[in-house]
Amino acid sequence: FSRLKQSLTKTREVLAGKVEGLVYGRTTVDESLYEELEEILIQADVGVETSLELVARVRERMKAQKLDDPTKLKPILKDELRRIFAGGDETANLRLDGDPTVILVVGVNGTGKTTSIGKLAHLLRRDGKKVLLAAADTFRAAAIDQLEIWAHRAGVELIRHGEGADPAAVVYDAIQAARAREYDVLIIDTAGRLHTRVNLMEELKKVFRVVSRELPGAPQEVLLVLDATTGHNAVNQAKIFGEAVGVTGIVLTKLDGTAKGGIVAAIRNSQKIPVKLVGTGERIEDLSYFHAGEFVDGLLG
Ligand code: GDP
Repeated sequence: FSRLKQSLTKTREVLAGKVEGLVYGRTTVDESLYEELEEILIQADVGVETSLELVARVRERMKAQKLDDPTKLKPILKDELRRIFAGGDETANLRLDGDPTVILVVGVNGTGKTTSIGKLAHLLRRDGKKVLLAAADTFRAAAIDQLEIWAHRAGVELIRHGEGADPAAVVYDAIQAARAREYDVLIIDTAGRLHTRVNLMEELKKVFRVVSRELPGAPQEVLLVLDATTGHNAVNQAKIFGEAVGVTGIVLTKLDGTAKGGIVAAIRNSQKIPVKLVGTGERIEDLSYFHAGEFVDGLLG
């Protein structure tokens, strides 16, 4: 079992169990089957629109192939679910072709941003990259200290200023350091206070401008961290950040603790932003690249 599949155990127990229950004892396919399937998907946080779209496509295919056997439902559903992630076997990758590569990490406090940065630093370092972190969430000293702990765990350096410093200045310094000391990847932590949304988006845009001015072509990635357990709040956050800073990928955390794994499909289908990384636990190694095939197997068995 891959970590991704394992982290979906709770979702799978609920979702696969319900889909099997739906089919069990039925000998023919009728409209009530599709209606119940819609319900089941919506309850698994696949999202109303995405669930309706999915079921409509399953229904069409069943009809086109003149299938009246309820057991054919699940394989077709899995196939349609995979198609949401385009390319069928899509494996997410990060663009790491910068010199240095800059990865800007954004997201609301509490979603697991700091933890994910630590895990990502570990992952990239394990792949032989020289990684530098920048503590550009300067609003709380505790946030900077927390990032320092993760930098230490991952065995990477951190550029930090004091509490209340200008995030753009931290980023400027980090870029100079990354250049001078020939780092491969600079990962930038940013603030995540959504209740001051306008200020936050302005701050992020300013950081973005400094990065792209100092290093044309950067940032190579803008990763948005979302908490899978928050269901549709996560979809809304994807919308807000996506409009403000042009998110290139999503890091979906806490997939291990939730039965809401269907949220991945809702985000992918409604925002068209790829899920690139998935948090599967609290340890430093609990971060996996997203893989559509494994995800769908993890969801439905
Ligand atoms: P931040 O405020 O967004 O920086 O959030 P933190 O990185 O401090 O994480 C908040 C909490 O979520 C911590 O207790 C983490 O251990 C926990 N957490 C983060 N990612 C995951 C994950 O993938 N799985 C689980 N189970 N917990 C996670």
